[in-house]
Amino acid sequence: MPQVQNDNRFEHLLDHHHLKKTGPRLRVLSMMSSKNTATSQPDLENLMHDVDRVTLYRILNVFEEKGIIHKVFDLNGTANYAICHSNCEEHNHQDEHLHFNCTVCNNVYCLNDLNLPSINLPAGFKAENFTLYASGLCPKCSKKENKK
Ligand SMILES: [Zn+2]
Ligand SMILES: [Zn+2]
Ligand SMILES: [Zn+2]
Repeated sequence: MPQVQNDNRFEHLLDHHHLKKTGPRLRVLSMMSSKNTATSQPDLENLMHDVDRVTLYRILNVFEEKGIIHKVFDLNGTANYAICHSNCEEHNHQDEHLHFNCTVCNNVYCLNDLNLPSINLPAGFKAENFTLYASGLCPKCSKKENKK
């Protein structure tokens, strides 16, 4: 279980977005930022059994709307959520990074530090969103594979 850190940057974040600083909201934030992979809603439910499903669902929705977290679907079509690192704003996500889905452990990694190729779209197309998606073996799983 990831450690829950007591960090008031999450309180600032909620203030910044004019959201009430509720315990569950703060815990969702610290839970997510303590992991280097995206977290699915079922995972979050398991980690926070005292928060009911509807509350959790609302928290995720409002965070996504405010540009605090972004959603990424894994290979099974399950929604995973990760903290936004770039300059996301309300209704304007800028998460133009590569998502890597491991085919063994099914973890989704946000790879923020890659230089992405610029993509020139044909005339007339205006992209509002880029999704780059890769799947294969994550470092942990490829180490295990090598030991076999
Ligand atoms: Zn975002
Ligand atoms: Zn893996
Ligand atoms: Zn991401």
